[in-house]
Amino acid sequence: MTKVSVIIAAAGKGLRAGFEKNKLLVDFNGENTLSRTFGAFVKSGLIDEYIVTASSEDEAEIRATFPSEVKIVAGGATRTESVKNALGAVTGDIVLIHDGARPFVTKEIIADCIEGAKQNGGAITALPSRDTVLENENGKTEYLGKSGLYSVQTPQGFKTELIRRAYELAGDEAFNDDGEVFKRFIGEPALVNGGANNVKLTYKEDFEIFGALGEYRTGTGFDCHKLVTGRKLILGGAEIPHDKGLLGHSDADALCHAITDAILSAAALRDIGYYFPDTDPAYKDANSVELMKKAAALVADKGYKVCSVSACIMADKPKLLKFVPEMVKNIAVALDIPKENVGIGATTLEGLGFVGREEGICTRAAATIRRS
Ligand code: MG
Repeated sequence: MTKVSVIIAAAGKGLRAGFEKNKLLVDFNGENTLSRTFGAFVKSGLIDEYIVTASSEDEAEIRATFPSEVKIVAGGATRTESVKNALGAVTGDIVLIHDGARPFVTKEIIADCIEGAKQNGGAITALPSRDTVLENENGKTEYLGKSGLYSVQTPQGFKTELIRRAYELAGDEAFNDDGEVFKRFIGEPALVNGGANNVKLTYKEDFEIFGALGEYRTGTGFDCHKLVTGRKLILGGAEIPHDKGLLGHSDADALCHAITDAILSAAALRDIGYYFPDTDPAYKDANSVELMKKAAALVADKGYKVCSVSACIMADKPKLLKFVPEMVKNIAVALDIPKENVGIGATTLEGLGFVGREEGICTRAAATIRRS
């Protein structure tokens, strides 16, 4: 059986991203880019050996990121030098060489690259250019066109003995990438279809866009209170004239309660009764808008910001339509989000059940939070 190794290049500094450390080691949503890239290869199930190049500065941190069977090899002054060092540690028949900054590589690309290397000795991943390419030298431009032009990506795959020989012949000369070294000293590499998603995270904006993946979370909440005489009816912080109000230990604002639970649930925190128990005198007649604000603060402690809420009130009486804008405003102000991000609806239950008999009011809500 053919043994396949992968070299993940991580010895660069990634200066263009403007982080204070190697861009590959900056944490996004609990994971750094280098581990995501490694994970993409692990998930493919096609790799037998992993080699990661690391600068002396990052070596300890990179070592700590990976399982012990991953070989960490000292990087050189240039990528070419780093790959050369890493090739010395490869024991596979086929070796893929990949940028640590391309975490979105797919199983299909990896498989095609391995196959291309087996068939042809060398294969590079490339994507037909979507844009017209222009060369500009000191203000003198030349259109290179689009047709037949490709952006070169990684992985690039080779028969190990061939790429080793190519690098020996290359000496200290600098090359764009491994495919170019192969082409110069061995022969034409095969082209493997790359992907538009297989981007190399280079600038800070790239990390902002792609680092945001998986950072949104949603939670839902539900509440119900009994309607009784002698109580104020408060929903979404708005006092609504009615002959009955909601019964509860706090102000019984069922809309704020459902939203509060949705916010807490989005961050996988405990529910409203856990943080604000109705046995605690501190919450007697409490303003539920304030409780909702506290929930947003608890979520903020976990690194999240509420982005939007959506809720529905189920009540047969009174008519709530004209009070909705006031509720929206109160909620938006409390959560520090635009009014456009607060959606409140109200519905009757057409006389059905306890809501229909005007014995109680139910509410249901969803909240979206984003890692900030
Ligand atoms: Mg409640």
